[in-house]
Order: sequence, then structure tokens, then C-alpha cells
Amino acid sequence: MPIQEPERIDVATYEPIDVLGLNYLQDFRDRTWMVLGWVIVPFLLPFSINHFIQNRYILGLLAIAIMLILSVNSFSLFKRNKQLLPVWLIFIFLLMSLIYLIHAMGSTTLFWCFPTLFVMGFVIERTKARAMTVISLLILIPFSFYITNIELASRFVFTLCMICFFSDILVGYLIKLQEKLSKLAVHDPLTNALNRRQLDFYLSEAIEETKRDFGPASLVLIDIDHFKEVNDTLGHEAGDDVLKDVVNILHNRQRRLDHVFRIGGEEFLILLRNTEFQHAITTAESLRKYVEENELISGQSLTVSLGVAEYKAGESSNEWLARADVNLYEAKNLGRNRVHPERL
Ligand code: GH3
Ligand code: MG
Ligand code: MG
Repeated sequence: MPIQEPERIDVATYEPIDVLGLNYLQDFRDRTWMVLGWVIVPFLLPFSINHFIQNRYILGLLAIAIMLILSVNSFSLFKRNKQLLPVWLIFIFLLMSLIYLIHAMGSTTLFWCFPTLFVMGFVIERTKARAMTVISLLILIPFSFYITNIELASRFVFTLCMICFFSDILVGYLIKLQEKLSKLAVHDPLTNALNRRQLDFYLSEAIEETKRDFGPASLVLIDIDHFKEVNDTLGHEAGDDVLKDVVNILHNRQRRLDHVFRIGGEEFLILLRNTEFQHAITTAESLRKYVEENELISGQSLTVSLGVAEYKAGESSNEWLARADVNLYEAKNLGRNRVHPERL
């Protein structure tokens, strides 16, 4: 009989952003800002000196201001892990300086737009970077036609748009790759449940929440009964399918705040945040019943045993987990296909 479950839920939507690893991308951006601050000085200093020698004081001062802002920003990131100014403000300043430079020096300085917009795509969060790219293009395109002839301006506009477009595509690749790698790092590839390595992080978070009066938290430890027999009689692949089906059931019946982990071969854990003990037992019982009633293997019954434990103030995550394990062991001893402790 087929499983009567709603459609699968994308597990990724349950993950907090930092666990998915998106922070690494921010890390990469911060480091790029830092490098930018260090390299800008030897790079811009000769231009700045030249401007002063040529009596172009405003341009010389603008170059100094850019070096100063980016270097102090680097230092701030290095020391305090924080940007000196909002990135959009820095960018608006750079854009305005660029427009002044082009206005003062003519069309040969249009070249500066290429690295500026390309780098911006990488160092600013994507939606903001896109918005700023559009704003920049809306200013730079008419400006280029104003400052130079149609032939050069149209070539400039075309190549600049290409740079922006491919910079955005590259960032898109990076984000997708990052998401994929992060997902692989935190999920069990067979069942898509969170892997065991994530357990410490989530349990510590849940314990912290109980300390901050977010309500109690409970664990439900689940082990498939006589699973070895499934492998022995139907083969390893059929066993894998059963594992996937069980996790699908756990995922589809979980609430948004709950997390499902695969912590052993055929052993799973649900972390129920903000859930009282009796409610956790009811949840466990409904899962047990659901697995029993839906023939995951046609013509054969498949059951699970479950151990439930509510977090007790002061205990460590290992102690909490160990109590759930003792209760699971008890459920097995009492004859399997049951929840321990039972509802009062
Ligand atoms: P109990 O009711 O006491 O839990 O009995 P059991 O047979 O479920 O438990 P046991 O620990 O004896 O066997 C667990 C089996 O799970 C043995 C192992 O081959 C199987 N197993 C572990 N990981 C996987 C997997 O990824 N895929 C498959 N198909 N089987 C697995
Ligand atoms: Mg088992
Ligand atoms: Mg087991």
C-alpha cells in the first residue's frame, strides 16, 4: 500500500541561514573588503600624487579620501569585525567620485567603471548589489553619451552591461555552490535528515532557549524495529528505501521549529523545541501509529520504538540524549512498537 503522505517538504527551508553556511559567503565578502583596503593605497597613491602635481587638487583629495575610507574600513573589519560605514554609502561615494573624475578628465577615465562595478557585484550582498548596479547604469549610461561620442559611448555601455551581467552570474554560481556544499555538509545524503555532527549545535541552542524561558524542549529518539531482518529478507536497497520513507514521515509530520537527525544506521532523533513532555509523548505516539498503519513494506508490518526525554535544567546535552536512549532501550525491552514512557 502506498504511503498516504502529503508531498515532500524541502528540508533546506528548515535550516537557519548560518547552518546552511551562507555566513561563509559574508566572510568571503568581508575579506575582499579587507584586501581592497590594503591594496588600494599603493594602487591609487601614484594617481593621487600625479593629480596634485598637475594642480588637480579636488581629484587628488578625492583619491586620498577613497584610500582613507577603504583602509579605515579594512582596519575596522580587521579589529572589530564590522564595516566602518554601510556598504551602500561607501559605494555611493565611490560612484560620485567616479562621475566627477570622468567629468573632469574626460572619456579615457570611463575605464574605471569596469573594475568598480565588477568588484561591487562580489563585495555587496546580492540584492543590494543588483539594486546599486541598476542605479549606477542608469546614471552612467546617459552620462557616457554626454561625455563622449556615440561610437565610444555605445561600446562602453555594451561592455559595461556585459561585465555587470557576468559578475552577477558568477555570484549566482558561488551562492548555489555554497548552498549545495553546505547542504552536503549538514545533511545525511541518503535520507536528507540532518547528520550527527549537527546535533551538538542544535542541542546547545535548544538548551540555551530553555534557559531564556522559551519553554521546555524534548527529544524523541526513534529506532526501527528488527530492521536487520528487512535487509536480510529484502536486500540493502529496499532497506535504504524504508529509511528514506521513515524520514519522509518524520519530516512531513514535523513542525517548522522541529529538527530531524539521523544519528545512527536506523536510528533517528527529533528535537522538539518549546514542547512539553506530555505533548512530546503524544507526538511520538502518533508517529509510532502512523508508521505501523502505513505499510512501508507491502505485505509486511514495520514498526518503530521511541524513547522520549524532556530537558532537565542543569544537565548537559549528552546527559539529555542518554536519558532518551535509556527510554528507547526500555521501549525495546517492553516489546518494541511502543513509546516510553507512555502518556500518563
Ligand atoms: P532492534 O529492533 O533491536 O533495533 O533490531 P534491529 O535489527 O533493528 O537492530 P540492529 O542494530 O541489530 O540492526 C540494525 C541494522 O541496520 C543493521 C544494519 O545492517 C542496518 N543498517 C544500518 N545502516 C543502514 C543503511 O544505511 N542502509 C541499510 N539498508 N541498512 C542499514
Ligand atoms: Mg533497530
Ligand atoms: Mg539501532
